[in-house]
Amino acid sequence: MTEYAARIGRTELAATFAMAARARALRAEGKDVISLSLGEPDFPTPPHVVEAAHAAARRGETKYPPLGGTEALRAAVADKFTREHGLATPARDVLITNGGKQGIFNIVMSLIGPGDEVIIPAPAWAGYEQTVKFAGGVPVFVPCPQEQGFVLQPEALAAAITGRTKLLLLNYPSNPSGATISREALAALADVLRQYPHVWVLSDDIYEHLLFGGARHHALLGVAPDLRDRVVTLSGVSKTYAMTGWRIGWCIGPAEMIKAATIVQATATSGVSSVGQAAALAALTGTQDFLAERAASYEQRRDAVLAALNQVPGLTCHRPDGAFYVFPSIAGCLGKTSAGGRRIGSDGDFAMALLEEALVGVVQGAAFGLSPHIRISTATALPRLLEACQRISGFCHALR
Ligand code: PLP
Repeated sequence: MTEYAARIGRTELAATFAMAARARALRAEGKDVISLSLGEPDFPTPPHVVEAAHAAARRGETKYPPLGGTEALRAAVADKFTREHGLATPARDVLITNGGKQGIFNIVMSLIGPGDEVIIPAPAWAGYEQTVKFAGGVPVFVPCPQEQGFVLQPEALAAAITGRTKLLLLNYPSNPSGATISREALAALADVLRQYPHVWVLSDDIYEHLLFGGARHHALLGVAPDLRDRVVTLSGVSKTYAMTGWRIGWCIGPAEMIKAATIVQATATSGVSSVGQAAALAALTGTQDFLAERAASYEQRRDAVLAALNQVPGLTCHRPDGAFYVFPSIAGCLGKTSAGGRRIGSDGDFAMALLEEALVGVVQGAAFGLSPHIRISTATALPRLLEACQRISGFCHALR
């Protein structure tokens, strides 16, 4: 039998993929499954963006692209960051990556070796843990419970930092909780970070434009520009512009870090799709008018889901200000048995029973490091979302 490298043994496919696969299998059997398990906008990529990719291909932009990204896209990302956060950012501080995910991989692989600790405020996107383990690092989860709005508290951060801490991962608006962070709360985290100059921060701002009810996004560097020699800011076009398939993201950081991250990228994949970069450039430099419309639609869905789920026995919901997820606690369902005879001992049991019996796919909180919760993606048309909420309600009412 082949003996795979140790890094394969310590890394598993995220539970989000497992749930989606089971949902697909049930669908293949002809079952009407409503899958709310993937974090993907249901809107199309805007037509002018698709057209820009066509035009680039017709112009012959089909050769190996520059390793760090096209000059035009790097400049557009740098301008955007400068404009939005008031921090002059040169294009050389930007690395264009294959989706936000490769940005995370590049930074983690640049910084983290065996035994290095990475602080992950939980709940957190499962990709962080995977990447840290792949690199041989040690994920250190800091619970950020619902009572604290799922936001990292400064005392909890200070308590988690050790001499081996290399990196802190931040993600607001958050996947899976949808939590945003206030300027004051970010400033309080920055105060802690100033006491520990050996700690880097990767601020994953990929949901930065998906905000509701007047909520604002604050970048860590906008609040604490003095930390710029050890903060990397990450974002991309996947969520904002409904471009998950184009695989374009970026990281912005100090020149030396960008150089290291470029070495990782050069080793793994080289530069990023040329037509994808042309599309991302059009997204960043073209009209932004549709973003408010789409955010309003996500907000309407969030409100509808909260109104429906807050009536359901056993569930309690926090009100997210951003992203397209709701992350209710299912604590009141634990210890019960479903109509189909499945015992609900954990959020994983809940998610599986809900899929098998009510044909609704969600992801268990355990996959994000905080139980007992489920993550519901609201990136689905409203009538289907409401139907899913009804099924969840029926499922919970039938628990005994
Ligand atoms: N960061 C977070 C918090 C995410 O939720 C995701 C995708 O789900 C990513 C990064 C990866 O984004 P991309 O699809 O651009 O690789």
